[in-house]
Amino acid sequence: LSLSLSVSLSLSFSLAFSLSLSLSLSLSLSLLKFTRLPHLAGTEQNLQLAEQIKGEWLAYGLDSVEMVPYDVLLSYPNISQPNYISIVDELGNEMFNTSLSEPVPEGYENVSDIVPPYSAFSAQGQPVGDLVYVNYGRTEDFFQLEREMGINVTGKIVIVRYGNIFRGNKVKNAMLHGASGIIMFSDPADYCAPGVQPYPDGWNLPGGGAQRGNVLNLNGAGDPLTPGYPAKEYTYRYNLEEGVGLPKIPVHPIGYHDAIQLLKNMGGDIPPNNWKGALNVSYRIGPGFTDGFSTQKVRMNIHTNNQVTRIYNVIGRLRGAVEPDRYVILGGHRDAWVFGGIDPVTGAAVVHESVRSAGKLLRKGWRPRRSIVFASWDAEEFGLLGSTEWAEENAKVLQERAVAYINADSAIEGMYTLRIDCTPSLHTLVYDITKQEHIADVLLMQYNIGKTIHVFSCKQTGVSYPVYHSVYETFELVERFYDPSFRKLRAVAQVRGGLIFLLADSQLLPLDASQYAGSLTKYAHTIAQLGQKHPDALVKYGVSFDSLFSAVENFTVAARDFHERLTTLDRTDPIQIRMVNDQLMYLERAFVDPLGLPGRPFYRHVIFAPSSHNKYAGESFPGIYDALFDIEHTANPKEAWDEVRRQISIAAFTVQAAAMTLTPPA
Ligand code: GLU
Ligand code: CA
Ligand code: ZN
Ligand code: ZN
Repeated sequence: LSLSLSVSLSLSFSLAFSLSLSLSLSLSLSLLKFTRLPHLAGTEQNLQLAEQIKGEWLAYGLDSVEMVPYDVLLSYPNISQPNYISIVDELGNEMFNTSLSEPVPEGYENVSDIVPPYSAFSAQGQPVGDLVYVNYGRTEDFFQLEREMGINVTGKIVIVRYGNIFRGNKVKNAMLHGASGIIMFSDPADYCAPGVQPYPDGWNLPGGGAQRGNVLNLNGAGDPLTPGYPAKEYTYRYNLEEGVGLPKIPVHPIGYHDAIQLLKNMGGDIPPNNWKGALNVSYRIGPGFTDGFSTQKVRMNIHTNNQVTRIYNVIGRLRGAVEPDRYVILGGHRDAWVFGGIDPVTGAAVVHESVRSAGKLLRKGWRPRRSIVFASWDAEEFGLLGSTEWAEENAKVLQERAVAYINADSAIEGMYTLRIDCTPSLHTLVYDITKQEHIADVLLMQYNIGKTIHVFSCKQTGVSYPVYHSVYETFELVERFYDPSFRKLRAVAQVRGGLIFLLADSQLLPLDASQYAGSLTKYAHTIAQLGQKHPDALVKYGVSFDSLFSAVENFTVAARDFHERLTTLDRTDPIQIRMVNDQLMYLERAFVDPLGLPGRPFYRHVIFAPSSHNKYAGESFPGIYDALFDIEHTANPKEAWDEVRRQISIAAFTVQAAAMTLTPPA
């Protein structure tokens, strides 16, 4: 792969964008401008922000900018009936109530329309019951609770700490095990770093802060009422009861001040050590309260409403000079839970400055080889709704013309390392861009990460930063603590801008099939090792990974030969160039199985999917992984191992079919 050429090509871009001393300043001004007010999806403020962005993108010089509306299911608290959780006595009297809102940070006291912490799409209801503490609410936590501690949560209210996995998976697990409600709290063990003060004196979560967030299990469906089709005015909508991924039990988030009150009198067994958080309570698992308080119960009071609401994406276009029918897309969400100080505005500012830089270059007479599409998505916080509806509406065109999608959500989540999640065919490009001096300098010297730039695969997961999705995500949080010089933000802008520039303007697409081969080899070994934990079953049911290894080997050879041929390609022949570019561009599609993964028809990629146990994490060979999961406890081993065999054959076929797309056309 000859990236040195394309990297030097980006020099003109660098001069306009990357090296510009004012880039940090521009980014900080955009961050300031977009964080003055709350921009919750479906509100007037977020529509106005969309109009403002459209106007500015047009002024920067894009060829066209349009507002693209959809009518999707959103969810808001009921203003006249607030959500809270009570401890009640035997008569139902409220002995304690959780707070109705977060203390607003200084300087923002007069801001209206700050939505209180809530779990979007929670079911309504007032379940009363005993609490059971289930650690992070992960699959393995519920297994441990039921299998090792012998506790059943049927009819109980589960309380779990935030972190480790996507909150929607916690809710799904609680539902699956029969809970009547679920409370999620931010434990200082996960949301306070040692030696750091709570905001505004530091970047830790204050005791009154809580994490908002949707609790859906959409599995890629987008708007719950219009799976597979764009949520336009004419579109057929399912009833609320049939909506995809809606939880059937009440859900509510609280901070650690309120959590102490709920946890402190709990009875039952002492939990395993790794279930203990950092609060000054014993973290007993229940069910219910200890002796002196055993007549008290917990009641959830949840009145949140689901509501079909209009949302707006902003779509800006820049026509390509040579291949206008090839699209490189840069998108990020605009909607925020409150001010969006980190999430999403550090990302939205990067998109905004990328548009500004592209506009500057246009005025100097530059035009990219391929078209660039810029997107400001709405309603990401409600389940990636704006982007998914747009993808549904444009599926046919994207299928035929999209080259790559670069996502630009939060540009910052911590202090020290660069994290990039991407498909293996982008590894080489990402690595080359981060090696460029002006970016590497920031990453290596400024942030002290040693000699390596970490390019993570999509397995990385965590708890995010302490004040995530709280009212304390302000401009000042970034300016005072995370990135006072705005150089981190600039480095991320340079990486994202560089990716877009090189994907759109390189003659040969900077995609690397051999990197894909390397990753497939690793994933095949990992999944085979998982299978080999059951040597007897493999023999008994005739399960073998040989076909998969053989397909991966064929893919490796095909990729190596493909890149070998590229070195002798006649670069003056536009048809030759277009032929190999098409092979590179369509490679990712070759891993798509039109039938989808079992039970998840909108997840169709055979190599990668969100983990079934944690939407924030990726799983490789997800079909095989899920078939093997907990197989030692299956009621029907023959059937379960048959499914493993079927999934291995699907994976082997798909990798082999992808290899064939890389072979010479004739
Ligand atoms: N990024 C949002 C969150 O983590 C939405 C994620 C999703 O719905 O998939 O809450
Ligand atoms: Ca839809
Ligand atoms: Zn976000
Ligand atoms: Zn978010």
